[in-house]
Amino acid sequence: PQCLNSSGSRLGLDIGGTLAKLVFFESETRPSWCNGRIAEVIKSLGCVASEEPASLSSSCQQSRSGSLLRAVSKRAVGFQRQSSFWGEQDMELSFYDDELKGRFHFLCFRSDQMERFVSLIAVHELHHNMTEIFTTGGGAYKYAELFQERLDVKLVPVDELSVVIKGISWLVNRPLSPEAGEVCWLGDEQPSALDGQPISQCHWMEPSDESLFPFILVNIGSGVSIVKVEGIDKFERISGSALGGGTFWGLCKLLCPSCKDFSEAGFLAAEGDSSNLNLLVEDIYGGDYELPSGTKLPGNLVASFFAKAGAGGSSENSGEADILNALTTMVSQNICQIAYLNARLQEVSRIVFTGNFLRQNPVARQVIAENMRRVSAAAAASERQNGREPLQAHFLHHEGYFGALGTFLHNVE
Ligand code: ADP
Repeated sequence: PQCLNSSGSRLGLDIGGTLAKLVFFESETRPSWCNGRIAEVIKSLGCVASEEPASLSSSCQQSRSGSLLRAVSKRAVGFQRQSSFWGEQDMELSFYDDELKGRFHFLCFRSDQMERFVSLIAVHELHHNMTEIFTTGGGAYKYAELFQERLDVKLVPVDELSVVIKGISWLVNRPLSPEAGEVCWLGDEQPSALDGQPISQCHWMEPSDESLFPFILVNIGSGVSIVKVEGIDKFERISGSALGGGTFWGLCKLLCPSCKDFSEAGFLAAEGDSSNLNLLVEDIYGGDYELPSGTKLPGNLVASFFAKAGAGGSSENSGEADILNALTTMVSQNICQIAYLNARLQEVSRIVFTGNFLRQNPVARQVIAENMRRVSAAAAASERQNGREPLQAHFLHHEGYFGALGTFLHNVE
């Protein structure tokens, strides 16, 4: 298969409300103008190669364990930020595709840095021979003039949901090389560990032959889109929420001003204890509470997020890690609840969560997986009677890149 469109583009670009995602394919059989030069671009993104973990000195003020440091540095392998995040390559996600004979690279940067990115392309002449880039996300419109004027490149808009679905179905069923074998994880299996610390009730799955469809797609970007997907070309946006990743990050900046970096916030949240801030069922009832229907509300269930902060008390001793944990849990649980209800309405049992809110955010994945298991179990009796399957939360390794990947695939057709 040819991995080039007529203009020679090997890029897939998704310019979202917060982050721009770039997929770049380096073909072995048809080397292009910028094979190998990708490293130059990455350096220019404000990162330098380093064996050391990311420097956290100027960020979230909280004690951090070695495991946190390792976790933070795990994804953007070997790169240290010189300034606050504006872009990085996700080295861990890169993979070699045997069939296409080439390597996929994944980069993201802040959408508001588009001028800087375009200047880099111009300086490195990476747009040589390129006349158009298929692009998804609102930025395909917003930045069309910038690309046209500065690079003489046309951004061709592509519908967002169709490319996200295309990217997912392509990658999940792909016979990938062993390094990229872990494309998906299932949110209701045995506890797994990150650096020896159990942080998630998820385990990695190999790509499967089983049909992916139908599924409910919950894309958690700045906002949330909920889509019923019955086939690669058969999908419908059924719901959404404006309480999404952008809400989390905005509140995080307001409540934890020293926290400058999203990935640090994610991993710091894993160290926090939100029971200092959230009012739990056990704070009200003294333990678990059994409803007249026989359903038990566990004592550790949150009755009201941040309510203890309103009542004073132990919230005074809460640090940023606790706030971040509460914020992450609040946003994740709310999205999970909306996803659950929509999946039930549509009678679809598989729910796939994507989007960069999940990027380097183990707490969010864990909350969603556990919450899905809990609400599913609570409804289990009537579900069995009705012959319904319990719902399953799935997460994908390349969570935020499916729009860009699908746009690349759109390019090669
Ligand atoms: P969009 O297309 O709307 O930009 P994404 O899927 O890229 O959506 O997700 C954006 C969300 O990802 C942000 O709202 C935030 O929650 C999260 N995020 C992950 N990494 C970063 C980062 N480095 N800076 C800001 N937000 C980030």
